Amino acid sequence: MTEVDAFLTNCRLADGRLVDIGIAGGKIAAVGEGAAASSNSAPELDIAGDLVLPGLVDGHMHLDKTLTGLPWMGHAAGPTRMSRIETDKTILPHLPISTEERAGNLIRECVARGTTHLRTHVDIDLESGLAKLEGVLGARERYRDRVTVQTVAFPQSGVMRCPGVLDLLDAAVRNGADLVGGIDPLEIDRDPKGQLDGIFAIAARHGVGLDIHLHEPGEMGLFNVQEICTRTNRLGLGGKVTISHGFCLGGITERKVAEAAAMMAEAGVALVTYGAGGLTMPPIEMLRAAGVLVFAGNDAHRRSGLAITASGSARGQSIYHRRELCPRSRRCSPAAQAGPFRRQGRRARRGRFWQHISITAEA
Ligand SMILES: [Zn+2]
Repeated sequence: MTEVDAFLTNCRLADGRLVDIGIAGGKIAAVGEGAAASSNSAPELDIAGDLVLPGLVDGHMHLDKTLTGLPWMGHAAGPTRMSRIETDKTILPHLPISTEERAGNLIRECVARGTTHLRTHVDIDLESGLAKLEGVLGARERYRDRVTVQTVAFPQSGVMRCPGVLDLLDAAVRNGADLVGGIDPLEIDRDPKGQLDGIFAIAARHGVGLDIHLHEPGEMGLFNVQEICTRTNRLGLGGKVTISHGFCLGGITERKVAEAAAMMAEAGVALVTYGAGGLTMPPIEMLRAAGVLVFAGNDAHRRSGLAITASGSARGQSIYHRRELCPRSRRCSPAAQAGPFRRQGRRARRGRFWQHISITAEA
């Protein structure tokens, strides 16, 4: 056996086995039942049967909006999306600690709870320019040894209704954003061709992906799902495009959602969901069966402009109550859903797709 620096003993894997995990040079070097007893005299830490999982992935966050580290603040926004957007603009610039500090506070909270990879949207608008992106990139740099962070340049206030935002999105990518975002091309911009052509052109120009917030319901949202798939095919961006939320997929006929799922799978367009709360929930199992990559994220953690609970995000909690996310396995926990998952035959159906504690993984 490889010489190890330390052992974690009595670790419960997701399949129920009780194993010892040997660590060498900061990486997992050995996994096995009774491995510690048959090895050298490396120090041991008894995990006492607690569950051991790979690092979790949160696929949808807003690090720039978090209030983590600040005293309690009441919910200030009205019931509409535009009210929440405007509330962000009135609250965030006047907070007593910076975007970088708040984002860093939340990153530490996530890491402490097992998240090691996250994707965050960052507001890009005419009022704040790239300032929030700079703050989030600063926090990313500060914690780069603990977590990987993908950033999405997110035009929350709209694109075509705010002339100049397309230039800012382009500048955001040139200044470190990993993906281009978008939002409700019909409902917010009332110009789906303008917004989608604009953001896809930026992505194609820089060779990056897209992650587009789509809250639009029913047929309105379906129209944009189709438009997104068409552009993804046309520009060869398959595998690099994600639709966030996609509530429309839970509010159209079975036939139409089946057609949309086939189109998304063919184009390589993924879906990220936080569970939808009280809105229409995309049919996760059907989408996965059709070959669509589906993954999960919390969206909001003590976030300005959204209702929050003492334990964090009111929205995030909805993931824990959505049986659709894992209907066939009693063993499959909400935490396990945090990473990208794709149906992969019987193993995936049993909820075992995430059970990998692998040799040479980061310890
Ligand atoms: Zn979001």
